Order: sequence, then structure tokens, then C-alpha cells
Amino acid sequence: MVVKVEEIREEGLNLREPIPRTLLSEAIGEGPGIPFRVGGDAELEASLQRVSGGVLLRGKLAAPIAVSCKRCLSEVALKLPVEFTLSLVAQSAKSRDAGDAKERTGGSEGDLSGSFDLEAVDVEPFDGKRIDLEPIVREQVVLALPMDVVCREDCRGLCGGCGQNLNEVECGCPTKAIDPRLAALKNIKLN
Ligand SMILES: [Zn+2]
Ligand SMILES: [Zn+2]
Repeated sequence: MVVKVEEIREEGLNLREPIPRTLLSEAIGEGPGIPFRVGGDAELEASLQRVSGGVLLRGKLAAPIAVSCKRCLSEVALKLPVEFTLSLVAQSAKSRDAGDAKERTGGSEGDLSGSFDLEAVDVEPFDGKRIDLEPIVREQVVLALPMDVVCREDCRGLCGGCGQNLNEVECGCPTKAIDPRLAALKNIKLN
């Protein structure tokens, strides 16, 4: 998944790249104790445009990922949307100045910067010749991972007494869905 800058023409370059399951799996560190599981392959849609001092990269993919519900731990399958825009800045002789967005917006490709706020975009250095999309995709997938997923708004979670999934059973325990760490508190007697 390497794009050479010289392949990017005046009007830009659009491409579609298959993102194999294995890449997604490595990105999220799939394994025991990780609350994410990859459901399959994805496809990256990317557009690259030359701008003064580098390349503007826009990318988009939907990653099939299953996430554990934070209350009941059941798996929730998602097509996780991953969308990013990166300003890839060539680390050349003028690398010091290249980091200054004000300098770059004064470039000859003013039509693009005029419609786009470069200062709001993440800047990523590259060697000015080759853009490797793979590490970029990995990083962006990780950044997009959701932290607070519930299987449904009214998920009742696990019983604090017996550990059963309260969405599925009425276990009849006197205390329901109590955080096990808080369960000890109810035994404290206040006099
Ligand atoms: Zn749940
Ligand atoms: Zn119970």
C-alpha cells in the first residue's frame, strides 16, 4: 500500500485498497483481554492531492469489528466508520518551515487551501516521495475504536449477585446489576 508522490497527478489520485482482516487484527491487538474482535476484511477509499509542501490525504473505510457491551459483555457487531484527513508534509530541506501552516496556505495551490482549513488537519511527516498507507490505516483504526459501547440503551447488564445476563434471565437475586466493587458497601451499617 505504497503510493509514490510522482503518481499523483494534477487532478489528484483516487484509489481503493483492500484492507485484509489480518491488518485490522494486528492494529487493534486482537487477543485475550481485548474487547474488540475483527469480523472480516475492509476496503480503504482514499484520495490524495498534491498541495504545496506535501500531500493532502483523505481516507475512509468501514471496519467490521465486534465490541463487547460494557454492561453485559455480549458482542455488538459494528461497521466501524474510520474517516481521516491528513496533511502529509515532506521532510525536505525546508522542513522547519513546512510545519507552519500559515506558510503553506500561501502556496500556489490556493484553490484547495481556500476551501479547506489546513490548520484543523493532522500533520504527518513523510519523506516527500513515498506514502505508506498501511501504518496510517492502522493508527486511524485504533483512534476510531469506540470505548463506550452498549448492546442497547436499556441493557440491564450482569447480575451483581450471580453474574447472569439480566437481559436474558430473571435470576431472582435480591441485588441486581450492582457493581461488584460497590456490593461490599451495602453491608456497611451506619449508626
Ligand atoms: Zn449489554
Ligand atoms: Zn443474580
